[in-house]
Amino acid sequence: MKRLRGFCLMVLFCAALCSWGCGADKPVQKSDMVMDTVVTLSASGAEAEAAVTEGMARLHELEKMVSPNLPASDVSRLEQMAGSGHWVVLHPEVYHLLAVAQDYAAKTNGAFDITAKPLVDLWGIGTDHSRVPAPAEIAKAQKLVGWQKLELNEKTHSARLLEAGMGVDAGGIAKGMAADEVRKIYRKHGIKNGLINLGGSSMYALGVNNEDKPWRIGLRHPRKDDAKEKIAVLPLSDEALSTSGDYERFFESGGQRYHHIIDPRLGRPAPSGLMSVTITAADKLEDAGMLTDLLTTTVFVLGPEQGTRFLRTLPAGISGALVDKRYQLWTTHDMAQRLEEVSKELQFWQESGELQ
Ligand code: AMP
Ligand code: MG
Repeated sequence: MKRLRGFCLMVLFCAALCSWGCGADKPVQKSDMVMDTVVTLSASGAEAEAAVTEGMARLHELEKMVSPNLPASDVSRLEQMAGSGHWVVLHPEVYHLLAVAQDYAAKTNGAFDITAKPLVDLWGIGTDHSRVPAPAEIAKAQKLVGWQKLELNEKTHSARLLEAGMGVDAGGIAKGMAADEVRKIYRKHGIKNGLINLGGSSMYALGVNNEDKPWRIGLRHPRKDDAKEKIAVLPLSDEALSTSGDYERFFESGGQRYHHIIDPRLGRPAPSGLMSVTITAADKLEDAGMLTDLLTTTVFVLGPEQGTRFLRTLPAGISGALVDKRYQLWTTHDMAQRLEEVSKELQFWQESGELQ
């Protein structure tokens, strides 16, 4: 009996030593270029290596479905068949992305419109052929934009665009969807602590960082070239986060900044007076990553008044921080209390209209 107890103690001792020294819980981190951005996946836990490797492979798979540059991608096939009347069968993930996008297009009266592609292409912002188009060109492209002309068939997981020349641009939502998909893989591997980071604009923070503290996410200063310059810090745990900013892709002409977030109703970069929008969504919400991604784009188009009003109509667990061009910080829900290291340049906007 004594011998058996001694043996058991020995096994326990070895197990303890191993979990401390054999690397079982050692954080794993991998980076790669996916969806035109540097993706970094970190995780700790017994299955961290498998989660990160599988997560990265999944991201490459998803990229092939939504890339506008691959003729066989779902979005390219939709565009090729536009106006033909034929339905295009989609991967379930892409069908779901379109269904959520359509839901929010309806809720926002087209402020978020996944069919904005003809306008996005016309302006070419972020490419080497960006320019201010003539009003007639804008009007022509606008005729080919309209979420009501994208039809979905839930039974067959298929979709079609009603007019030739239409297209789908998933740039405002795909990274959030991808973050959700990696989050599912982390869940399958029992990962409690980790960070899924798609280029800093969409991420998912789980549990705590290597110092056993919530992850600390810097909100980028919208007018400093150095991406490390922050305007505030947000502790994040078990939440998705996305940011849209007018500094991400833009060109200047005639002293005006033309950025990559288009108001489809106007046919031009949204003149909302905002510089950046950050939104978080609790892990318990379905599609948390996708929601934050599409909502930052949407709120950027809606502007601060309408945008914050809209955010307040959404389920609990979603909150936002908006920075306008006067460096006023607009927050919803508990965001004001959560932000740390808030730059002195910022003034909290109060609903009374007074500045704090
Ligand atoms: P984000 O940086 O997440 O705000 O996404 C911006 C990208 O979404 C752009 O580069 C376009 O590809 C696309 N986009 C621009 N305007 C809209 C819009 N109003 N609705 C949906 N997608 C848009
Ligand atoms: Mg977005």
